Amino acid sequence: MEHVSFPPLSRFAICGGTHGNEMTGVYMVRELQKKKLEKAGSVSITSVLSNPRAVDVCKRYIDKDLNRCFTNAFLSAPITDLTPYEVKRAQELNAQLGPKGSEDAVDLICDFHNTTANMGLCLIFYTIDWLTLHIYKYIKSKITSVPVRLIQLDLPISEAYSLESVGKHSFAIEIGPQPCGVLRADIFNIAKEALDLTMEWIQKFNSGSSFEGDAVEAYNMAKSVDYPRDPTTGELTAVIHPQLQDNDFKLLQPGDPVFLSFSGETVKHDGEELYPFFVNECAYYEKKIAFHLARKITLAIPSISVTRD
Ligand SMILES: [Zn+2]
Repeated sequence: MEHVSFPPLSRFAICGGTHGNEMTGVYMVRELQKKKLEKAGSVSITSVLSNPRAVDVCKRYIDKDLNRCFTNAFLSAPITDLTPYEVKRAQELNAQLGPKGSEDAVDLICDFHNTTANMGLCLIFYTIDWLTLHIYKYIKSKITSVPVRLIQLDLPISEAYSLESVGKHSFAIEIGPQPCGVLRADIFNIAKEALDLTMEWIQKFNSGSSFEGDAVEAYNMAKSVDYPRDPTTGELTAVIHPQLQDNDFKLLQPGDPVFLSFSGETVKHDGEELYPFFVNECAYYEKKIAFHLARKITLAIPSISVTRD
């Protein structure tokens, strides 16, 4: 593959509390703000507590999931008295960090999330971005205490719904398992390490280091699976099977158990071989998602370096 160059990363936004009860990001941002960290080497830093009202009450959101409000449609929706708080907040954040898709947008956004699923450290991204993939490769090469994986949500940027999609380059960091409203030192330290490595990579990149091409594995989102439900009441009739619980990213083969009903029957996976993730994520019950399924893909990435003028 041909070598690719990018302009230097001069503005980096670190976000947390996009979901108000995901505590790693909330405290990561609070600590940065306490230190008044505004510059690190060649890059200016903005730290953002994305959903302060939800953080105050330690809930995922007030009116609507903020991390679903960054599509072009929501960002351009007229504001009325009936507009949900999070849609207004998304527009404020887009003004501060974007506008999305414009030259004025910050160079890199990293948004910190927690999951109740046993997912280790995951970087989540939308369209293929060589720079983000190199940051992933760097983090993965340095963090050995937990599995580090890459998840791709294949959506055009106009439909990309999460906060980080406002940046020129971006990724979300998802770390678990950690219950909502809880801080765990092991999880916090992994997040801190991932952030420090991202900063380290930016300094190397901005100062002219060249990063060799490679191939990386990614989990490409295929579909979501809902819980078995009572057709009349909509209530669950089964829970995640003990053999699937905590086994995120373990290949699910046809016939493998996925749910256990309250009457003791096992529901089996009946599709193609796929990789489950976000298994039994607390926040996804309301979204009618028991787990997602992904295909494993390999992405070839070119060597990259900063553009020299
Ligand atoms: Zn989240």
